[in-house]
Amino acid sequence: MKEEIAQYQPNKPCLASVLLEESSDAISYVENQEKVAKKIGFQYQLFSKVHADEDSVVQTLEELNKDPSIHGIIIQRPVPKRISFSRLANTVLPMKDVDCIHPYTAGRLFQSNPLFYPPTPASVMMILDVYRISVEGKDVVMLGRSDVVGKPLSMMLLQKNATVQICHSRTQDLVSKCKAADILIAAVGKPHFVTTQMVHKNSIIVDVGINFLEGRLVGDADIDSLQSHVSAITPVPGGVGTLTTSILLQNTLEAYRLQLNTE
Ligand code: NAP
Repeated sequence: MKEEIAQYQPNKPCLASVLLEESSDAISYVENQEKVAKKIGFQYQLFSKVHADEDSVVQTLEELNKDPSIHGIIIQRPVPKRISFSRLANTVLPMKDVDCIHPYTAGRLFQSNPLFYPPTPASVMMILDVYRISVEGKDVVMLGRSDVVGKPLSMMLLQKNATVQICHSRTQDLVSKCKAADILIAAVGKPHFVTTQMVHKNSIIVDVGINFLEGRLVGDADIDSLQSHVSAITPVPGGVGTLTTSILLQNTLEAYRLQLNTE
């Protein structure tokens, strides 16, 4: 990305980040985004709308949609209860929707014709790919069915010919379903949810969870107790989350190229 961006003079690809909450998590996330973006050569603009009402945030998004110097837009989550995430998602111009939240962008992904891949699911797919773990024909259990992780990731796995079972809080007999899987992907949001009873010696575990336990960042799977019982497992921190920002920026570069071609 760095080499390609160096060629673009004077206008560089620019990611706009809209912050709606002042939590330490949200702030450290945007600080990290800015650091990585600038290191690679992207422009980065932060729009703090922490005390703004829904109409004002929508207005900001509409201005960003029209601004030719902005190529990608991300709305930091979580979104406060006073604001409808769905209204914001519907406002982002699909061509700048690098977090893949607009129904059009999400729909294209579900029809195997993506404009962008959502960063967190794409991070999981990239890890599997880099470690040469093919999902074709494998039984994959997707723990979690959120719009951000579980649903789009299930579609991406299906498109790579995995047999995907999507599990959630109402799933019965969860332990044996997880144990029967070749690949178990955890996106539940509960520390140490995946136990040794849910795995076998050939299990591959991809841990998407980001949780805080006694002041420590931990995943949905406890790597210390699991790693001697499975074939492979991703750590937290240092796993899926570390790639997400890079993929978000890759999408911003792709959005920049698309916008150059359709000016
Ligand atoms: P979410 O919207 O809260 O969804 C959690 C999912 O887990 C839901 O589908 C829920 O089922 C399911 N679940 C909850 N309790 C369960 C149980 N006891 N048994 C089985 N399923 C259960 O969370 P999310 O946004 O997908 O995020 C999941 C985790 O990934 C969080 O820790 C989050 O911080 C992390 N995350 C990481 C990244 C990254 O870049 N690494 C990005 C995004 C999120 P129901 O649908 O039935 O409620």
